[in-house]
Amino acid sequence: MRSVPATSTFKKLQAFPVAEVWQNTQTGEHSLHAAQSFTPNQVICSFAAATTLSHPTYLTVQTALDTHITLRPFYLQYVNHSCAPNVFFDTARREFIALSAIRPGDELVFFYPSTEWDMQQPFNCHCAARNCLKVIKGAAHLSPAQWKKYRLSNFILEQLKLHVSKIS
Ligand SMILES: [Zn+2]
Repeated sequence: MRSVPATSTFKKLQAFPVAEVWQNTQTGEHSLHAAQSFTPNQVICSFAAATTLSHPTYLTVQTALDTHITLRPFYLQYVNHSCAPNVFFDTARREFIALSAIRPGDELVFFYPSTEWDMQQPFNCHCAARNCLKVIKGAAHLSPAQWKKYRLSNFILEQLKLHVSKIS
């Protein structure tokens, strides 16, 4: 899990039955937190495409090579990245799923490369997970060991089948 500095304080901005939008009062960053407990593989909620775009933005989730969706319910946009994720976007079933046991108040974090193939805007990760990848660039840039370690969307698995011999 992401380590939050002990001095961080949060303001709850909005509460929904399954999750709450919090804001870090020091950094201004938003995050999504569980409003109830979830068990591994439990469906937290279904989601739909609010809009469908041909190019990614920092708000989109990739569902095909040239298809990137913004999410409904909108608060799913506040799910941040971690290299030790506790949630997963199943883009085939359109279900937002718990990967591990989650308690109320836990931040919900997903692994961006689980849906993003080759990110146009890589970023440096500071998630503080033991196996933090440091630079997040998309699933195309992971090692075979990393592909095996994470749950990946059907789209990413299809891309791996097409490209893995060229990459490795
Ligand atoms: Zn990380």
